[in-house]
Order: sequence, then C-alpha cells, then structure tokens
Amino acid sequence: MNYEEAKALQESWGDKPCDHRSFTDKYLFGSKTGDFVCEQCGKFFTQRQKAQRVRSKESPKLDKLLEQNTLIKDRLAVLTKRKDLLAELGKQDVSSSMLDPFIQEQESLIALADQLIKEIGAG
Ligand SMILES: [Zn+2]
Repeated sequence: MNYEEAKALQESWGDKPCDHRSFTDKYLFGSKTGDFVCEQCGKFFTQRQKAQRVRSKESPKLDKLLEQNTLIKDRLAVLTKRKDLLAELGKQDVSSSMLDPFIQEQESLIALADQLIKEIGAG
C-alpha cells in the first residue's frame, strides 16, 4: 500500500479502535520502505513494532510463563529455607526414615526441573 492510500485509509478509519490484524508492505514512490501498514486502519508500523505486536498477541501465555517462573522461585525460596531446617535437624537425633519422604519429594522435583529446563532449551 502506498503512502497516500494509507493516509486516506487513516482518515476514513478515524479514531475507531483497530486490532491491526493484518499488515501489508508500505510503499513510497513505488518502492518498499521496509515499514508496514495496517490493512484495516492504515496505521504505520515499523518492522520492530510489527514484531512486538505479534509477540504481544502471545503475551497471555508469556505472562503465564513468567507468573509460573515467579511461583517456582517462591517455592525454591521455601525449599532453601527447608535446607537450613534440615541442616538443623541433622544436628539432632533424627531417624533416617523420617527423611525418606523429603528425599523422594525432592528427587521428583529435581527430575521435573530438569525436564522443564530441557523443554525450554535453557540447559
Ligand atoms: Zn489497524
């Protein structure tokens, strides 16, 4: 879409909200500018702005992931505290069978964490 067409579209669209669903290349004097135009409202977008829009469409999931990350961090903080507690327990006379459930629990947690890291590709 060339600049004049986009400007005309912007004027006819006015202040109505637009979810900028599809983009087309922006042309100026017959050549691509590298920018984009919303096909519905005519608004201009740079490559970066367009990429950000695509990302923000996925943001509910990203937000969820980030939220989960925070939760995991909180849990890890709890576990770190537990480590101190266990160190204290170690000084006392504790039967080893009492610790078995903790060991199992933590082993499955470690396995889960390993799996998560592998899936996210951060490992
Ligand atoms: Zn739009």
